[in-house]
Amino acid sequence: MPERERRWNGWGFAGESFPAPARARAWLAERLGEGNPLPAVPESEVVIPPPRPLPALPARTLTESGVRLRTACGHSLPDLLALRTGAIAAFPDAVCFPESSEQVVEILRAASAAGVVVIPRGGGTSVVGGVTVRPGARPVVVLSLERLRGLVRVDTTSQLATFRAGSLGPEVEAALAPHGLRLGHEPQSFELSTVGGWVATRSAGHRSTGVGKIDELVAGLELATASGLWRLPPLPASAAGPELRRLVIGSEGRLGVITEATLRVRPLPESEDGLAVLLPGWAAAVELCRELLQTGVPVEMLRLSDPPETSFGTTLVHLSPLAARVSRALFGMRRYHRGCVLLLGWAGATQEVTLAEQAAAKLWRAAGGLALGRSGWRRWRDERFRHPYLRDELLSAGWGVDTLETAAPWARLGAVYSAVRQAMSSACERLGFRVAVLCHLSHAYRDGASLYFTFLWPLARGAELAQWSALKGAATEALLETGGTISHHHGVGTIHAPYLEREVGQTGIAALSALARELDPQGVLNPGVLLPGEAT
Ligand SMILES: Cc1cc2nc3c(=O)[nH]c(=O)nc-3n(C[C@H](O)[C@H](O)[C@H](O)COP(=O)(O)OP(=O)(O)OC[C@H]3O[C@@H](n4cnc5c(N)ncnc54)[C@H](O)[C@@H]3O)c2cc1C
Repeated sequence: MPERERRWNGWGFAGESFPAPARARAWLAERLGEGNPLPAVPESEVVIPPPRPLPALPARTLTESGVRLRTACGHSLPDLLALRTGAIAAFPDAVCFPESSEQVVEILRAASAAGVVVIPRGGGTSVVGGVTVRPGARPVVVLSLERLRGLVRVDTTSQLATFRAGSLGPEVEAALAPHGLRLGHEPQSFELSTVGGWVATRSAGHRSTGVGKIDELVAGLELATASGLWRLPPLPASAAGPELRRLVIGSEGRLGVITEATLRVRPLPESEDGLAVLLPGWAAAVELCRELLQTGVPVEMLRLSDPPETSFGTTLVHLSPLAARVSRALFGMRRYHRGCVLLLGWAGATQEVTLAEQAAAKLWRAAGGLALGRSGWRRWRDERFRHPYLRDELLSAGWGVDTLETAAPWARLGAVYSAVRQAMSSACERLGFRVAVLCHLSHAYRDGASLYFTFLWPLARGAELAQWSALKGAATEALLETGGTISHHHGVGTIHAPYLEREVGQTGIAALSALARELDPQGVLNPGVLLPGEAT
């Protein structure tokens, strides 16, 4: 199948979009005021310096400007601002495309010998600066996993499948389907992110409440380092010392390049469905989610939007005149004035799905929920990979938008939620602009859940990055102070690296640094990512 052309300065595939409906623009204008539209400079206006000399690398290597531009950044908000304005801080000097695990080892050897920085790149969808090239004295090579793709083997008896690291989400599912299997790992970046990237960042998909985070799905790994291939075989469980696979999961390219991963897969479901439920208020709705998890009601997908996200969400949906009247009437009722939409999804044997839905219904009815039907859930499922295109539309229209996510035990979740919202509002007040903070709870566990915040603000010309820094910094401090993690699934990258020590302690940083020194003695792999304070 021919590769679809990707946008060089925004999300996704060229020609795709998610235009902001007039109602959404009105919602934002009413709460935030108008911002300054941020036009995107054409590619021809981006100034790309010539590449620095590099040693010969044992794989196809390109130094063309277009390729270097397309691998200079990821998808964080600072990345997008840089790409839109053309103010890109640094470019790789070359991009290489190994075709085997052995070639990756050879590249790492050559780079280590010559002191060349290597940035492993899967889909390049990092939102935390994980693949962003930074200025520095050493030349930089992006090691693209683009040619290391495909299914290596399937063990249907054990329900294990081994993939090369550069395999994209849709390729994974397409390769498993003929075997009657699926992985079920569907981050919103599914169409453009890779197996290796998921493992390197400890990613989570929409179905993670049922299938688990990628952490739970990895059974075995192959890691390329300058000293060779390190194979950690797939095992259901082991007591052979500490779990070394877990050290590689989340290592963000600092310990080596993941070249293969053996993943736990499951049978394709007989049926799949879900529904939307309207609940009277946030705190009680969070309690309902806790109850669902702790009483063991099986749920594959769970997503609870808070009142602001529910309100903004209704502006993105095209409703028939009748449905729009019903919606207005519902939200006009005192009971649902601060209503929260809960999406619940199930997949599996038809009878199991029916029983799980019935068990869940007992709980949401007792919590005062009102079934909104299946169409809302199905629409969300069908459109979920298109939603990220909205960010580019909003930037063009003058509103900044970014997301941040955390997780905390149920007992701390309310405090984290309030503190993050409050911190962002206070930061804006000080700086004289307004912010809308939307949140949903997803990826739920017996002991806690993830909160995913979307924040929007009117862009001020020339101060876009400062506005973002103020909001992001305030929110990160707030969630650390109230007991949340700096990231539930986006990872650390360079953006969260300065905060990692507050979460894992000095000993944690020292242990990780020692491991990085052992596996990458010349310090060429992703300097500044995960562990802070290292120059490229
Ligand atoms: C619109 C959008 C939606 C998103 N939705 C989600 C979501 O729902 N859930 C979620 O978890 N994340 C999400 N993300 C974040 C991102 O998609 C994930 O972090 C994803 O796992 C990154 O995969 P990738 O292949 O793009 O990795 P990249 O962005 O290429 O790399 C990420 C990091 O891992 C390193 N790396 C990549 N491949 C390897 C490898 N083979 N070996 C060693 N290191 C490697 C890179 O150097 C970098 O530090 C989203 C991002 C965007 C832009």
